[in-house]
Amino acid sequence: MINSMPYLPKNLRLLLLLSSSPLKSSSFPLSLRPFSPRSFSLSTLFSSSSSSMENHEANVPKSSNSFVFNKRRAEGFDKIDKTKKNLERKSRKLNPTNTIAYAQILGTGMDTQDTSSSVLLFFDKQRFIFNAGEGLQRFCTEHKIKLSKIDHIFLSRVCSETAGGLPGLLLTLAGIGEEGLSVNVWGPSDLNYLVDAMKSFIPRAAMVHTRSFGPSSTPDPIVLVNDEVVKISAILLEPCRSTKEESCSKSGEISVVYVCELPEIMGKFDIEKAKKIFGVKPGPKYSRLQSGESVKSDERDITVHPSDVMGPSVPGPIVLLVDCPTELHAAELLSAKSLESYYSSPDDQTDKAKFVNCIIHLSPSSVTSSPNYQNWMKKFHSTQHILAGHQRKNMEFPILKASSRIAARLNYLCPQFFPAPGFWPPQLANNTVLSKCSSSNLGESISAENLLKFNLRPLAHHGIDRSCIPTQLTSSQVVDELLSEIPEIKDKSEEIKQFWNKQHNKTIIEKLWLTESNTVLPSCLENIRRDDMEIVLLGTGSSQPSKYRNVSAIFIDLFSRGSLLLDCGEGTLGQLKRRYGLDGADEAVRKLRCIWISHIHADHHAGLARILALRCKLLKGLTHEPAIVVGPRPLKGFLDAYQRLEDLDMVFLDCRSTASTSWASLESSDGNAEGSLFSKGSPMQSVFKRSDIPTDNSSVLPSLKNLKKVLSEIGLEDLISFPVVHCPQAFGVVVKAAERVNSDGERIPGWKMVYSGDSRPCPETVEASRDATVLIHEATFEDALIEEALAKNHSTTKEAIDIGSSAGVYRIVLTHFSQRYPKIPVIDESHMHNTCIAFDLMSINMADLQVLPKVLPYFKTLFKDEMVEEEDADDVAMEEAL
Ligand SMILES: [Zn+2]
Ligand SMILES: [Zn+2]
Repeated sequence: MINSMPYLPKNLRLLLLLSSSPLKSSSFPLSLRPFSPRSFSLSTLFSSSSSSMENHEANVPKSSNSFVFNKRRAEGFDKIDKTKKNLERKSRKLNPTNTIAYAQILGTGMDTQDTSSSVLLFFDKQRFIFNAGEGLQRFCTEHKIKLSKIDHIFLSRVCSETAGGLPGLLLTLAGIGEEGLSVNVWGPSDLNYLVDAMKSFIPRAAMVHTRSFGPSSTPDPIVLVNDEVVKISAILLEPCRSTKEESCSKSGEISVVYVCELPEIMGKFDIEKAKKIFGVKPGPKYSRLQSGESVKSDERDITVHPSDVMGPSVPGPIVLLVDCPTELHAAELLSAKSLESYYSSPDDQTDKAKFVNCIIHLSPSSVTSSPNYQNWMKKFHSTQHILAGHQRKNMEFPILKASSRIAARLNYLCPQFFPAPGFWPPQLANNTVLSKCSSSNLGESISAENLLKFNLRPLAHHGIDRSCIPTQLTSSQVVDELLSEIPEIKDKSEEIKQFWNKQHNKTIIEKLWLTESNTVLPSCLENIRRDDMEIVLLGTGSSQPSKYRNVSAIFIDLFSRGSLLLDCGEGTLGQLKRRYGLDGADEAVRKLRCIWISHIHADHHAGLARILALRCKLLKGLTHEPAIVVGPRPLKGFLDAYQRLEDLDMVFLDCRSTASTSWASLESSDGNAEGSLFSKGSPMQSVFKRSDIPTDNSSVLPSLKNLKKVLSEIGLEDLISFPVVHCPQAFGVVVKAAERVNSDGERIPGWKMVYSGDSRPCPETVEASRDATVLIHEATFEDALIEEALAKNHSTTKEAIDIGSSAGVYRIVLTHFSQRYPKIPVIDESHMHNTCIAFDLMSINMADLQVLPKVLPYFKTLFKDEMVEEEDADDVAMEEAL
């Protein structure tokens, strides 16, 4: 994430994309190849000042070029120079009155409802964001809201729902430019727990501007920002709990009301009046009067007050942001003394109350519709209310339009691998509680929409502004658009349908497949049922969530038996909701038994807390077992610290404890879990040396037994982690199904699925993938960018395929594409006979594995216009802006 990657020049990208031969692409002059500022030559890859590098020759076989990697990076040494960034914040020159100012709803969470809405408070020279749930970066990229311009982020609560996008955002900002950027983050005292937890994977420098506030000893609001442009203060709502309930209350329960007050605009200075009536001569006294001071008249024996010579001033607009997650918070809100000066009465002419122009309610509709809350809303006379809390409302087309448009197109071409997004049926849409609110005796109350604005300045445009709300798109519109752009796609879709039908006609297919490709159907797939296993690729992009691809997550659906997640980047829950619908995703999360995390880079685990917190909430009060999280050791530090904030209801198991040697030691119950992979002289030994925490077998074995039990309950035989070459403590995983009995009563082996995590090609992956049914391998870069792949310890397309081929893998799925390939990566089909590339939300049922490589050429037809089309500058802008 920290490394921003330069984009290929447009014309070069196009050429590479269209060229089918790897020779052609590599024949471009080297100078055309984009390169990172930390550029290097191959020879520097292995040179290092550290003496520990001396044994390098022994670690990497000299003869084997394919297993070359960046050792400094694999060992984590490359981070050292990065931590020196000071991430200073620039001060900006502010102008209090001559400015545009508005509050805007950023729609995060409003289609999948898995996060809280964010609100942008915009001024010409200053930007504030309230809440940063998962997906905020993706949303802002798509809607061209430059996060690099954000000065302050305020959290209305500290939990995964409101802050799930914060780690990714801090990392992205830290990676901008040479020096990196940082942002001021404000939240109630719980923020300290989050900061503590994030220390395990976010450089400290990126968090130097995080500040917590409260509890406060006075009833007055806590003033956080007070400059020429705005004053922002906080009022804490901390529900009192009975002692009985205290045991289940977590610290992440304080919520905050933010009061944003713009300064008043002073009336005009009447020069004539000052000179002729009050006898003040032009000079320094004029500016003293304008700055609010009284002065002596030059001609008369009187004191002249500013009000004598200034027109009436216009009070500054006030916006409140209110988050009451429960009715208990609402009760606190009602009794909050510090809000009394804002309550107004329509009948009282002498009313001194400050007028609140707009209240944005982040509270869920279950709370805002309660009588208590409604009574509170009535205390504000003629205020504009915007209801931005969760409410079930139908969004036929998700907010992230760019990726949804691709999903809808893929669905048209091949609904078998790209089922229609699982949005809930429209009849549910109408039973919202909104109608109740609008009928009550309040100022105007409206429902929030994406990018809805409330203008604060200039005064002439004051009020609700719907001009930015994007138009709604429907799947059928996208299909019409597609058919007019690429008419031949209709036939292509028909072709896919035909060979699909053939596949399920057994007699034809057996002959067909023996002749068409030299692959025989592995016995584990014979008569495999559709409810055996399905791989759902929830996120297929690398480093940071982008417009078209979310970050890594693979959902392994074992249907009625349960499910697994392999990696869990930011926004994984949102993707599950887009795939399965709101209720379907809850069900998917409820049945999760184990989450496996490959390494500590944020694009692989930043969505974990959100998923675990939701699972915990969904299963509250039901008999269940905690989720098992298998991950690299540093992840435990994060989870332990995070659990002070939110219940996650999980048990942790180090990836190293699930290595094959550890499993073997469980069998014999006496072995040494370190095993041969980490023993002296093995290639992995030096990579792991810096994290040589002794593995305590006595505590690991019971957890391992528990994992074994869970695996057998969901029909799996093995879950084996193996070390890979990427960063310290990076792993791949083998998941193997238990054997089954086929229709002839024969025992046949279960399928074997392997996932590489992030990795350079390495012998461990080949070994682990031996005869696997499917290998999901990262292919971050195209073949021409081998040097970049080497420097960053990733793989190229060809390398990933070679790994699979040399291990005799039946099917290869490529994923984790660099975000420089916004829609479709650069591929060379000639060596992809058993391979397919992944797209977000692609669902590969084991029963369809056979036809998987056959759909690959069709993607080229689908994306042919995208390749020629002038790439909109957004993706490049993202790299510049974020
Ligand atoms: Zn990654
Ligand atoms: Zn990584």
